[in-house]
Amino acid sequence: MAEIHDGYRYIIQRRRNNNIFFMCAARIPTLSTGRGIKTGNIFRLTRQHNHAPNHSLEEVVAFSRHLRRVCTSQIANTFDIYESLSQMYPQASRTMTWRSPQLNMRRWQRNFMNTLPRILSLTHLKLCFQTESNLKI
Ligand SMILES: [Zn+2]
Repeated sequence: MAEIHDGYRYIIQRRRNNNIFFMCAARIPTLSTGRGIKTGNIFRLTRQHNHAPNHSLEEVVAFSRHLRRVCTSQIANTFDIYESLSQMYPQASRTMTWRSPQLNMRRWQRNFMNTLPRILSLTHLKLCFQTESNLKI
């Protein structure tokens, strides 16, 4: 599980007592030595990074959470949901284009629809048939 602090993304290295030891998630491409320790809810940097922070990371997380919230509370076209929310997160939508969240968004929608009472979909189906037969007349 990753965490973001001040524009840097960290992965958990180990846990000991009440401390969680983190290291920079960008360690592989950047050779960053950035490290931190979290005690309770307090995070402190123990070793500096060798690269600039990316403050759009927080926005990407917020964007992703918002997409999930909408997908699990209403039925709509997932691309339309993405398009309308991306205007609220301009920086994040440049990093997280439609390609990356689309599968998750469909899954969230499917799970949400499965939680809806069956009767709703039956009523909906009936309405569809009615409209169809009305059209034939
Ligand atoms: Zn780093």
